[in-house]
Amino acid sequence: MRVTRDNSTAAGGQASGAGCEHGWLTESRHRISTGLIVYLRCASCGARRVDHLGAGALVPSGLSRVVAPR
Ligand SMILES: [Zn+2]
Repeated sequence: MRVTRDNSTAAGGQASGAGCEHGWLTESRHRISTGLIVYLRCASCGARRVDHLGAGALVPSGLSRVVAPR
């Protein structure tokens, strides 16, 4: 796995750390019923962020398999 770029979750990202181009590192991720919870931390200023990726944002291939009706 590689570090995901900060482009899928553009929910007003100017909270704190003015002047810091946050370089988010994934600390941990947890799969929940509604999708995926990702804990991020900025490597520069130490700011933290929690992202919720909906089920449509990251489709688990194992669950999305289509079973053809007979
Ligand atoms: Zn930062």
